[in-house]
Amino acid sequence: MSLNILILGGTTEASALARALKDDVRFAPMLSLAGVTKSPVLPPIPHRIGGFGGIEGLADHLRREKIALMVDATHPFAARMSFNAAGAAALANVPLLAVARAPWLPVAGDQWIMTPGMESAADALGDVPKRVFLTIGQKDLAPFRRARQHHYLLRSVDAPEADHLPPSVTLISARGPFAEADERVLLAGHRIDVIVTKNSGGTATMAKLAAARALSLPVVMVERPARPQGVETVGTADEAMAWLARHHGAYLSARRGV
Ligand code: NAP
Repeated sequence: MSLNILILGGTTEASALARALKDDVRFAPMLSLAGVTKSPVLPPIPHRIGGFGGIEGLADHLRREKIALMVDATHPFAARMSFNAAGAAALANVPLLAVARAPWLPVAGDQWIMTPGMESAADALGDVPKRVFLTIGQKDLAPFRRARQHHYLLRSVDAPEADHLPPSVTLISARGPFAEADERVLLAGHRIDVIVTKNSGGTATMAKLAAARALSLPVVMVERPARPQGVETVGTADEAMAWLARHHGAYLSARRGV
């Protein structure tokens, strides 16, 4: 008897978990993607695309699909979905695990300016016109559209809508992982003065931080939003697999009445 699992994805960790579950007969997994990127990397397990309709919608989905276990492996900045997952898990009485990779920490030579959000990140760029490498994805561009004194080199998986863009911008469409040598060439080639990034953590997009260090460039680092309290949390897909295996073992024991 396999257990139905819902994985909320859109991250490296969710993809790794999908690969680990591919041939595991203990589980019937389903990976959920928001549908934000136009051509997502599809997993080797069944998947669905699109929102559930808030906490109630997700709770209905959990009940309807008889989901036994849910794993919230969304991005650390996908805060709304993580709160929805916590709320729905409580409503539908489904055990929930969050996979949250460790944040990046500064090391010697880093010049980080920590900011609590995008508004303050745009403010931190100052009044003097700069050439800014903006690696925050395609959401949250409004504060930079207002800070129109700067030129932006904007990198995202899909190009943002034209009317979401700052007036002076160069677009790059690319998906990580990125290598440090390439990031250095990019920063130097575009005569970048400062980088703006979310503190996403992980290895896929961290090369820009080493490149900034090597070139003595400042980094405006947007800190992570709050996550729901009281959710069991691990840092890796391997730990998530161990959690799933424990729950499967407990389920078998309960069925045998031991
Ligand atoms: P968000 O602001 O937390 O969520 C917005 C809405 O999108 C949610 O209320 C939900 O709609 C829907 N949604 C989000 N993740 C979903 C998922 N895995 N499956 C189904 N619906 C989902 O999320 P976001 O920041 O826009 O991120 C969207 C997706 O991109 C997530 O899968 C996330 O892991 C991935 N991602 C985000 C970032 C980032 O920086 N934010 C970076 C890389 C990848 P309903 O309320 O209708 O259910």
